[in-house]
Amino acid sequence: MVELDPFVRERLLTPGPTPVLGAAQLASLDRSVYHRSPAFDKIFLECRSLLGGIFGTSEAPLILTASGTGAMEAAMVNLTGPGDRVLCVNAGKFGERWVDLARRYGCDVLEIKVPLGEPADPDRLREALSQPSGTPWRAVFLQANETSTGVYQDVPALADAVRSTSGALVVVDAISSLCAHSMCMDHWGLDCVVGGSQKGFGIPPGLAFVALSPRAWSSLSSRPRFYFDLAVERKVQSRGQTSSTPASSLVQMLHVALGRLSEMGVDVVVRQHERRRSMVHRAVKALGLDLFARKGHSAAVTAIDVGPAEDAIQLLNAAERRGCLFAGGQMESVRKRMIRFSHLGFVDTLDVLSGLCALELALAEVRGSTPLGLGVGAAMQEVL
Ligand SMILES: *Cc1c(COP(=O)(O)O)cnc(C)c1O
Repeated sequence: MVELDPFVRERLLTPGPTPVLGAAQLASLDRSVYHRSPAFDKIFLECRSLLGGIFGTSEAPLILTASGTGAMEAAMVNLTGPGDRVLCVNAGKFGERWVDLARRYGCDVLEIKVPLGEPADPDRLREALSQPSGTPWRAVFLQANETSTGVYQDVPALADAVRSTSGALVVVDAISSLCAHSMCMDHWGLDCVVGGSQKGFGIPPGLAFVALSPRAWSSLSSRPRFYFDLAVERKVQSRGQTSSTPASSLVQMLHVALGRLSEMGVDVVVRQHERRRSMVHRAVKALGLDLFARKGHSAAVTAIDVGPAEDAIQLLNAAERRGCLFAGGQMESVRKRMIRFSHLGFVDTLDVLSGLCALELALAEVRGSTPLGLGVGAAMQEVL
């Protein structure tokens, strides 16, 4: 084997954290903005308003200092009470999180388990929700993008299935789909959408976003809560403040990143993610590998099934030595077969090509002799 490149630097192609935008990084060094000051209020309110554009909602989302799971928990504690009947779509690791959260908070949970690699079928939801029963459905929890399998679920169709059969609130974990897929919260009739800073937004982990519909605001549960009391947050955040100390340097970073995203325009951002997905798909095919998702392919992350002949862990290690970090499979059953190639966030065409190069070199290293450039060549067709 040739000598490893000592100049190697790490390229992050994982579905969170994603690469940090350089200009945002600089903003985090500015220590001049105190969080109880008009200057901060202005930045904070602009962030909320720009987030509203990405969520597709007219009421600006709230910004929480938490990881994405914090926003999921906030949704759960504010929208459900003990004993409430809820349906959770479990299409993978993150769907399972909704199930765990709902059970932990004492909800009466119906879990709809979807085969790994597939999106939920709206008809299955329709059927489950229309079963006659004494208690009404309180809420349905689902992912837009199931990051563990690289599946994007058809959110508008699923929301429609819920709304046509029940009065349940529709709660969507869009943590890894925001910026990669369009989100039209108001238009699709969603009641709660959550997001996280380290996914499509190009800043580090630590901020989470949550937006509620007027219907959700008017039917908050009476469960006790403190840090995640969204009604309290809504009141203080309307003035550009937060009830406890926010991760203010992250807010400054977010402000820069959202400014950049809005300059580009959400439609362009989404289209670029789609193009990255096409590049990776072409390469995967050309390299004789498979896509793990059979339907509803995510524009944020491609889960590659390397097949039984290859060991994904070995490939991940080889790619990392070449300077490219991918994520592996999260479920034990797929750990040896899955590479999750993220193309989410501030990643450009050449980043994707570098990732494919690293993947191809890793394959060549593990397989022994193999023609080089097939995957990268195929992907390049997409950008010419
Ligand atoms: C990353 C992710 C989460 C968890 O977010 P954390 O910031 O790790 O708490 C939840 N749901 C989805 C779909 C994700 O991709």
